[in-house]
Amino acid sequence: MSIVPIRDLEPFQSGKKIQIRVCRKWRPKIFRLVDQFMGLHCIFVDAMGDAIEASVKEVDYDLVAPKIEDGCHYEITYFYTVKSKSSFQVVPHPAQIYLNTRTVFKKLLNVHSPIQRHRFYLQDFDSLSSRIDNDSILTDVLGHITAMQPLEEKIIADGRIEKKCEIYIENLRKKAMRVTLWGDIATSFNSNAFNELTSAKFVVFTSLKVKKYEDNTVLSSTISTMIFMNPDILELEQYKSMFNNPIDTIKMVPASTTQQIAPQQLKTTKRLSVGELNILDPDKCKDVTIISRATITRFDTHNGWWYKACPSCYKQLKTNLQTDQLVCPNPKHGVIDQIPIPWFKVGLILEDASDQTNAIIIGRSAEQLFKISCRELVVEKGFANQQEFPEAILRVKGQCKVFQFRFGNMKSNFNRSDLLIQGVFDDKVELLASSSELTELDAKMLTLAPSPLSKQVSPLDLIASPDTPPIKITSISKKRTRDDMTRAILSSIKKARRKLERSVFM
Ligand SMILES: [Zn+2]
Repeated sequence: MSIVPIRDLEPFQSGKKIQIRVCRKWRPKIFRLVDQFMGLHCIFVDAMGDAIEASVKEVDYDLVAPKIEDGCHYEITYFYTVKSKSSFQVVPHPAQIYLNTRTVFKKLLNVHSPIQRHRFYLQDFDSLSSRIDNDSILTDVLGHITAMQPLEEKIIADGRIEKKCEIYIENLRKKAMRVTLWGDIATSFNSNAFNELTSAKFVVFTSLKVKKYEDNTVLSSTISTMIFMNPDILELEQYKSMFNNPIDTIKMVPASTTQQIAPQQLKTTKRLSVGELNILDPDKCKDVTIISRATITRFDTHNGWWYKACPSCYKQLKTNLQTDQLVCPNPKHGVIDQIPIPWFKVGLILEDASDQTNAIIIGRSAEQLFKISCRELVVEKGFANQQEFPEAILRVKGQCKVFQFRFGNMKSNFNRSDLLIQGVFDDKVELLASSSELTELDAKMLTLAPSPLSKQVSPLDLIASPDTPPIKITSISKKRTRDDMTRAILSSIKKARRKLERSVFM
């Protein structure tokens, strides 16, 4: 039997022989109430550099998986091919191989001219926009890691809590791209890859989904995503010569902290009146989430509406009057030589029947409220005058919203910590929660709307029945409410789950 090149394999064939190298193998896990594995998947590459996906069904996993070693060369017979998946294809090939317990693997030792170790189908960042929401084939990218956000937990709209990690990469032209990793892949990147980052700053992410978020193209992991730090590929040489500065360190982006409260929690969390907000002791509720419904009646115009933010931590940059340089208050960042990011910071006057109060809305939460990014207003539309509030901001006057607050760390002029707005909700979200139908957009809003404020605050921390004091939390009540919450959410938003798995995790 002669050896068939991978490129000549067609769907629905058997009785063929191939000589290949296993260049990738992974075990996809689907996100369900109980984790389920989906067998073993490999990428086989042959001497001509062509790749094909080969799979082992879960039922054969225990018997077949030990025969396949990553990176090794094999001669394989007694396999069959089928038509490759119509969506989420990992490598471009019309056929896919199935291996089972009858498959014969002859391991090839002392291979004279080894087959390439990796086979990626790397996409240029500029070509990614054509792949937005195109699920037929998944995307591989190579980049230089510039920043990452530590691992955090996100409440997904179906109530499940999922691990998430964001990595920022750039290409040779310094174009930036955000990659969001979910689940186990996020955990493993955080614990393994990042430890190696002092030496390895180049990364290939395979099998990503391309999406659009707030006018940006963003990437997110799928169950087939694998991460290769500093892979031995030709393309890396250019990156190495381009980014050869040894002191080029990876920036840590602050956690998105403000996990916005989930719709179901929003419903069950006791709401305070504006009058009650005024008499909260900030020192006693530093780490709790506070909910109140109020109308935006005025703006505090004394401090303008935006500031120049540090690209790494979003803190407000100060100008060194002697040198005219912009300096981040975080000594690790110091003098900023990159272009600062325009960042919203708007003072709102909020009122309800009981009283009025003032609160500050910053960054992503503000972008959510004003439905425009600060960058777009300042850079693209040219609004920069601090005294002149743009229409996008002014038009929220008179709007009644449900606000999620926390207290800031800095004492304001009135010797009282600022009330910061973490999240803004309108009646639509509440209705959605009760009708148990979440649209994909709302799911995205919940999962992808981080607000880069400072400290980690659990939104689960302030769920109290109407007659308990809102700020008193014991560990027992915390646990109980957390369990109740999980149950309530799981039973009420079941319908959204399947849709969400496809939209966020596939
Ligand atoms: Zn900074």
